[in-house]
Amino acid sequence: MTGLLEGKSALITGGGGGIGRATALIFAREGARLAIADASRDAAAETVDLVNKAGGQAIALSGDVTETGAVQAMVAAVVSAYGRIDCAFNNAGIAGYQVDAAGKRTHEWADESFDRMIGVNLKGVWLCMKHEIVQMLAQGGGKIVNTGSIAGLIGLPTSSAYVAAKHGVLGLTKTAAIEYAKDNIRVNAVCPGYIETKMTEDTMRRRGEQLMGQVPFGRMGKPEEIGEMVLFLCSDRSSYVSGACYNVDGGYMAI
Ligand code: NDP
Repeated sequence: MTGLLEGKSALITGGGGGIGRATALIFAREGARLAIADASRDAAAETVDLVNKAGGQAIALSGDVTETGAVQAMVAAVVSAYGRIDCAFNNAGIAGYQVDAAGKRTHEWADESFDRMIGVNLKGVWLCMKHEIVQMLAQGGGKIVNTGSIAGLIGLPTSSAYVAAKHGVLGLTKTAAIEYAKDNIRVNAVCPGYIETKMTEDTMRRRGEQLMGQVPFGRMGKPEEIGEMVLFLCSDRSSYVSGACYNVDGGYMAI
């Protein structure tokens, strides 16, 4: 399976590590020209180095996805580099511990923690979609994939705002899929289960064994296993797929 994105340009947010970085390397393998965006420019640059070493082409971008100006600048930079945005993977996100909410039940979340979580994980996805869609309408189409989660499908104790944000991402995905179906823009989501990244390190240290007991595969997923689904959704192989949310979770949601 090679060349699925030959000549296409792709923007990946949260591309400085984890799922975003693994997806970048898969996209590069398939011939895409990449824009790697991350909160940290250094992290984005490290991914660009890896892409270059693998024979691909990429530029590094940085900025906070909650800020309109930063997102506009990010989209403009991709268009300036490649002339268009064929594929957009809106993947930047944070976990509860990053807003000081680890282990907290709904009534224990601070207002600021709730706002930041919704800001990054929900508004950030919407802002990216908004500006990507303007460009995709102008160029005659495109593909968008948003990172949801199994937390977008079920409740998870001590993850209120994360769960709310991810349910919201799936709502945005479905709505945009309908709104832009006639504009040749497909919008889908991938819903990862427990994946080996920086985001899950702490949780796995504390209760990995218990959590893996709930996964039919009995193991975590690898970031690349998400990237392959994102590739499918960004390629012409999924030409009749829009508004869908694909679980990549080792069977977790089947229970
Ligand atoms: P990582 O923490 O490795 O990746 C998240 C990336 O998003 C980081 O590179 C981070 O930048 C970036 N980011 C965070 N906040 C912002 C912001 N405000 N603006 C721009 N970039 C930002 O974790 P994952 O790869 O695991 O996470 C990727 C996505 O997958 C997230 O949306 C997450 O919710 C989702 N997900 C992950 C699961 C898992 O088990 N790992 C399960 C289900 C969903 P930096 O760290 O440089 O600040």
